[in-house]
Amino acid sequence: MTEPFNALQLAQDQIVDLEKQLLKRKLRVNKSACDVHANVDDRELKAFCSNDYLGLANHPELINALAEGGKKYGVGSGASHLISGHSLAHELLETKLASFQELHIPKARALFFSTGYLANLTAVTGLVKLAPRGCASIYAARLNHASLIDGVRLAGAQNDAAISLFDHTQLDSLTEALKEDTKLLKIIVTDGVFSMDGDLAPVQELLHIAQQYDALLIVDDAHGFGVLGKQGHGILEQADIQSDRIIYIGTLGKAAGVGGAFICAQDSFIEWLIQKGRPYIYSTAAPPALAHTLSKSLEIIASEEGNKRRAHLNQLIKIWQDEMSFSIWEKVASCTPIQPIIIGSNANALLAAKLLDEAGYWIPAIRPPTVPLGSARLRITFSANHSMDDVRELIRTLKSIEQKTLEKTVA
Ligand SMILES: *Cc1c(COP(=O)(O)O)cnc(C)c1O
Repeated sequence: MTEPFNALQLAQDQIVDLEKQLLKRKLRVNKSACDVHANVDDRELKAFCSNDYLGLANHPELINALAEGGKKYGVGSGASHLISGHSLAHELLETKLASFQELHIPKARALFFSTGYLANLTAVTGLVKLAPRGCASIYAARLNHASLIDGVRLAGAQNDAAISLFDHTQLDSLTEALKEDTKLLKIIVTDGVFSMDGDLAPVQELLHIAQQYDALLIVDDAHGFGVLGKQGHGILEQADIQSDRIIYIGTLGKAAGVGGAFICAQDSFIEWLIQKGRPYIYSTAAPPALAHTLSKSLEIIASEEGNKRRAHLNQLIKIWQDEMSFSIWEKVASCTPIQPIIIGSNANALLAAKLLDEAGYWIPAIRPPTVPLGSARLRITFSANHSMDDVRELIRTLKSIEQKTLEKTVA
């Protein structure tokens, strides 16, 4: 028997506390491939919660490409990129990724990562090192993704960078702060699509501000890449902007359906990150077979099939925005596949998720700290593999569940 020592006691107490606050999260096991139908805990559920927006995660051509990549390159990369892990599959993928942004970033070059979390840490901590200690400031959107927040905090700690937050719907304070800022290097950091609300960053205005005050602009387009823009190139295509001060980050485990991420920027910034980006340098390269699969995924995104999938997805979003309405829950005006319903308390959000589960849906409640306190929600996401009837049926179910929760309301 282990004696209950201090750390163990703390862990157990903290978990009990989380449970009491209705903040304990639970893993659920999905026995089926990622798609709109899931087998969770041995029940068939209709899933409206993955970020597989184009429905590519279980695409037969990508499954074949993964097998082909494995045969050609093996399953592991064996080392970090700078030692010996940079395979032809990575190189070809990076060239393709850069070509997607070449109209928006002059001399665009891309760098592939095994996750978006790693790409974000690398971008922020690496770029801040362009200036000596204490000579950089970072302006971060308040609702940025956790990985950007952590990148900013780490950059602050490692390089003594000044950090301030701004509200992306109200840019006056950002402009005011930049006006007074005399630091050598200024970096603005924002999500492209805000991941828990589905709204877009005002990238045109942010670029304008960056130009006016000589700042870099980092845009994390995790939810826009593959989805936004006519060709699916992302938010820069949709906003029709071009600048060599944009550092674009896309992730490849969402619309691209596989996994990984990339930073795309003017060649010199990428060269700098290869030299100084610690999470890039000190991490084993992702399996080349994944890079090979991703090249195929980019082909689909750029093809007629990709266009059709985006068009269908946009139809689903339109049906939702036109036909969904609540009496007390709050719908958000979002033009992306992320369609949150703001419920408020953790208890009511959990109750709604439970009723949805009983009705055959997989839509988890999203609670703080992922979202601000008092704004617990259902985060509904659409995939091109959903049908229009799927969305209409979901709308009917949600309306009836809202009524049920009103009757059962928990304080
Ligand atoms: C998912 C996500 C990430 C992290 O990407 P992973 O590849 O899942 O690590 C980064 N930024 C945003 C906005 C995201 O939604």
